Amino acid sequence: MVTPSRFDLTQADIPSAWYNLNADFPEPLPPPLHPGTMQPCPPEMLEAIFPSNLIAQEVCADPYVEIPEPVRQIYALWRPTPLLRAIRLEKALNTPAHIYYKYEGASPAGSHKVNTSVPQAYFNKLAGTKRLASETGAGQWGSSLAFACSQFDLECCVYMVRVSYDQKPYRRMLMHTWGAEVHASPSPLTEYGRKLLEADPDCPGSLGIAISEAVEDTVKTPGTKYSLGSVLNHVCLHQTVIGEETIKQMEIAGEEPDVIFGCCGGGSNFAGLVFPFLRGKIKDGKKYRVVGVEPSACPSLTKGELRYDFGDTAQTTPLMMMHTLGHDFMPPSIHAGGLRYHGMSPMVSHALKLGLIDAEAYPQTQVFDAAVLFARKEGIVPAPESSHAIAAVVNEAIRCREAGEEKVLLFNLSGHGLLDLASYEKYLQGGITDLG
Ligand SMILES: *Cc1c(COP(=O)(O)O)cnc(C)c1O
Repeated sequence: MVTPSRFDLTQADIPSAWYNLNADFPEPLPPPLHPGTMQPCPPEMLEAIFPSNLIAQEVCADPYVEIPEPVRQIYALWRPTPLLRAIRLEKALNTPAHIYYKYEGASPAGSHKVNTSVPQAYFNKLAGTKRLASETGAGQWGSSLAFACSQFDLECCVYMVRVSYDQKPYRRMLMHTWGAEVHASPSPLTEYGRKLLEADPDCPGSLGIAISEAVEDTVKTPGTKYSLGSVLNHVCLHQTVIGEETIKQMEIAGEEPDVIFGCCGGGSNFAGLVFPFLRGKIKDGKKYRVVGVEPSACPSLTKGELRYDFGDTAQTTPLMMMHTLGHDFMPPSIHAGGLRYHGMSPMVSHALKLGLIDAEAYPQTQVFDAAVLFARKEGIVPAPESSHAIAAVVNEAIRCREAGEEKVLLFNLSGHGLLDLASYEKYLQGGITDLG
């Protein structure tokens, strides 16, 4: 007899609506502010860079937003994603805990990010947008957006942080394959980029700089809108398909999670898994412990301040109330490129403030220890970002062993690490150190 370890849904179970936690927060989320007036941001300011249908989702007060059929049809290429039980990892840790994970690496781009790039491209197409501009760090978001644009015949222009452009060629090639235009950032294409290159021709770039360039490009190029892969409310909204599916799959498994984990960069994969569970916590008195896991080298939730800050380095975005290390914070070059952002989703920040979630930080050596253990026991090579959640789960599973507690642990395996093998090689050769 095979012990059940995989809990599958059918395509009929692809959610028909996204869940909006903003409808259920016990206290309303503080609005974004205009940096000049310090008053709530007028919609016109957002309309310069986003189409009005996505702005409506950004400020939406309804608990559910219907997923359009053309979007569900593309989701059907990889959704519903699997929920698995990590039986061999449990054995290796000799823990009485049950460990479940939702696997988002099964998508075309290899991570959860296509859950939002596809609807963003769809709603832009509906609004008449011809071209999308965005930024990418290691390339996960850029490749997800390139895929989505190829589905809807939109042009795609990606500003990629220079160090990654030079050192991580494969996601750049993936973007080209899906038809996108890719520029190393800072680039000579924007005024901001030219200014930085004049001061330092070898400027390695950062996510904050790339965002500034993509926003400048958007404002100056007719027919272009901007697209962001994390942080914003409508991005968290789109990602809730992850949690909605997981709730059904845990029912099939016949268990309820005690502790739920997700890694946090801008907060979107974490939000996607946990927001539907937080609905149960707020409305049905569920007692889940929910933990956001971040790198100790970029610890916005555990060490950042909760205050209004800019989303980018050039201070062009509205101010958002969020946990932040400061918009000019330069995170060290950890291998989890997707977690190197100075801020955190305002919704995730608000959930922490209201005591609905906890946060933990782990150094990258411990993260790679957990990642390699997971790969050897469960087979899937996890993305370095996702491996932060694994490190926290391993920690909790060991605590359960010592306390003799048979807890049910659940985490989001947000992506695979098959394009991060150079980092694994470095770890195996002893070349990974802690940078904070
Ligand atoms: C981008 C990325 C993250 C971090 O972004 P969030 O918005 O915090 O989810 C995490 N995991 C993977 C695999 C990513 O590509």
